[in-house]
Order: sequence, then structure tokens, then C-alpha cells
Amino acid sequence: MKRCADYAAHYPGWGDWKWQYAHRITTAEEAAAYLKMTKKEKADVENCLSAFRMAITPYYASLIDPADPEDPIRKICVPRIEETYPCANDMADPLGEEHDSPVPNIVHRYPDRVLFLTTLCCSTYCRYCTRRRVVGEEDRVITEAALKKAVSYIRSHTEIRDVLISGGDPLVMKTEKLEHIIRELRAIPHVDIIRIGTRVPVVLPMRITDELLSMLRQYQPIWINTHFAHPGEITPEAARACAAIVDAGFPLGNQTVLLRGINDSAEILKELFLKLVHMRVRPYYLYQCDLSRGIGHFRTTVDEGIDIMHALTGNISGYAVPKFVIDAPGGGGKIPVNYNYILSKNEQEVVMENFQGKIYKYPQAEARPGR
Ligand SMILES: *Cc1c(COP(=O)(O)O)cnc(C)c1O
Ligand code: SF4
Repeated sequence: MKRCADYAAHYPGWGDWKWQYAHRITTAEEAAAYLKMTKKEKADVENCLSAFRMAITPYYASLIDPADPEDPIRKICVPRIEETYPCANDMADPLGEEHDSPVPNIVHRYPDRVLFLTTLCCSTYCRYCTRRRVVGEEDRVITEAALKKAVSYIRSHTEIRDVLISGGDPLVMKTEKLEHIIRELRAIPHVDIIRIGTRVPVVLPMRITDELLSMLRQYQPIWINTHFAHPGEITPEAARACAAIVDAGFPLGNQTVLLRGINDSAEILKELFLKLVHMRVRPYYLYQCDLSRGIGHFRTTVDEGIDIMHALTGNISGYAVPKFVIDAPGGGGKIPVNYNYILSKNEQEVVMENFQGKIYKYPQAEARPGR
């Protein structure tokens, strides 16, 4: 496998995020040439692109082993014909985000926080994207008029104390544009924390520059959440990006989607989560794959997810174990799904199983009078 360092020596622009962005693989021709595809594979890619565009940074493409058609990184970013297969339970907007959107670009589902979609653009598109119905549709970032509307909604809703800037990927925006958005949010007194959801440390780690981090530092408290899906994404470049973020003072979390044929085993996820913790990145959520159209081949059963969580819990550091959630179809929000450790429960005692399957009892306190 050809590694990133070899490419960096050949292409002077390699370490520059704008160069990476400008040289993305976006057509079936480019993908076919780079991955030595057959005519059929190339036609399949072509077929998929009308539903959801493709873009892969040269850096991320360099992580693929072109000789391996089952390469997990390849499955994450290169279309396969399965995307065109209809699936009985598919939904266009499975999370009901349009229903919970009081003004364009804002999803207000939980009492104290909102999701703020600032761009539909990503540097690299994940084939399993939950927002594939809209992500990748257009390249522009939020207009000034739409920003004003979103900010005025947040300003007039004093219960909002947490704004999650997402997209698309907000870190594909120019630093000045992002600063403009964050400055507007910071000027709202009841906005306590600002969060940024980004896959840039994974697919475009050179975007994490001193310039970006010193801009963000002016607007603390900011939490950053990234999105590693497979241990193969953890490279020296990605590790450097994560270290720079944490060293600059931003808590860094991670969310992962459970994906059939990519990371659906306790061994792979254990390796991923332990490596994340090593980089001081806290695994936050593991998502059950949702019902978006064209991603049925990525879905595992819910039980597979529960079994994986059961295998990890207690066996590795608690810090390395995320919450496993299903983002409920129809806009119910994230629901934690767990292995059931409680075998029985009454007023006297709770009977439980530990991580090794041994049985323990906990005597109940007497209920307080009046309860
Ligand atoms: C995930 C999500 C959030 C953030 O939820 P947390 O559990 O606080 O991380 C907020 N709004 C929407 C619509 C979401 O989907
Ligand atoms: S980075 Fe996020 S928004 Fe962009 S394609 Fe991947 S899952 Fe979708």
C-alpha cells in the first residue's frame, strides 16, 4: 500500500488543505483510474453519483489499498451498486429533521440545544451519510440572510444554551466565515457552549491549522466532536490534528456509525476506541445506522450493536466505551439502547449480572415516605 508520506514527497501541495480540497476525486473516471476499477465497477460508481455525489481528498484516498476491493476505507467513501438497491424501510428524512426545523438550517428537537446546519458541503462524502438527501447538493455555505434568520431564532429562544454547528462539515468553510458565524453566536448571552461537529481530522487533517485554532480559542467554551469510523483512519496526520485540537484547549469527542462490513465487530471497535482514547479523543456516541435511502447494505441488526457493546463494557476503560444509540425514526431523538444487566427488581432487591455474567444482588433502600 502506498502511504501518505510517499505522496507528500511527490506533491508539494499535499500538506495544504486547500490543495487537498481542490484535488479531490469527484468523478467515476478519476476513481476508476486511481483504484484500477473494472468497467463494471466504474459504471456502478457512475450510477450512484446521481443520487449522492462523491468527493474524496487525495489524503483520504491514500489510505485505501487499491488492491483490496473490501478495503474498509474504500467502502466508506467509494460508491457501490448496492446504493441503488431499494430497501423496504428506507426513508428520505429518517430523523424528521425537516419537521423539527423552525427556521431553515436550525433543527430544534431537545429543550436546551439546537443543531445548526451551516453548509451542505464536506471535503469527503461518507457513503452512509444520514443527511445524504441534502448533503452535497450545493457547494455554498450559509448565506448572510439565512444566518441572520438562524441567529435571530436562537436569540429569541432563551432556553437554548448549546449550539451544535454542523452540516455538512463546518470546517470546510474559510476561517473568516466560520469566525463570523461563531462571533454571532457568542454575542448571544444565553448561548453557553458552542460545539463543532467535523470529520476534518479524519479526512482532511491538514485543515487543523494554528490559524484555525487561535481563531476558535477566542470563543471558548467550544467543544469539538469528530467522526472516526475505523482504526485504519488513525494515521500520524490524524493524530497530529487531534493532538493540536486538544492541546489548544478543546475537549474532543468522537461519534461512529456502526457499519456492516466496515466496523461491525467488537475487535475492530475495541481497537478504534482504544486508539481514540490514546489520542485523548473520547468516544461519545456509537450510532445504529439509520434508515436513509441507499444505505441499507450498511445496516446491522440492533442486536449486533448491543452484543458489541456488551463485549466492550467492563472489559476496556470506561472512557473507551461510547453510548450506543438509535436516532429514532420520525424525529424521536437519540435513544440509548443497552444490554439489560438487571435480571429482576423488586422493593427488596435488585438482581444484576456483571460484565462477566456473574450474578450480584443489591438490597434496596426503603422507599422514602410519600413516594
Ligand atoms: C444529536 C443532536 C443534538 C445533540 O445531542 P447531544 O445528545 O446533546 O449530543 C442536538 N440536536 C439534534 C437535532 C441532534 O440530532
Ligand atoms: S462528514 Fe458527516 S455530513 Fe459529511 S458526508 Fe460524512 S456523515 Fe455526511
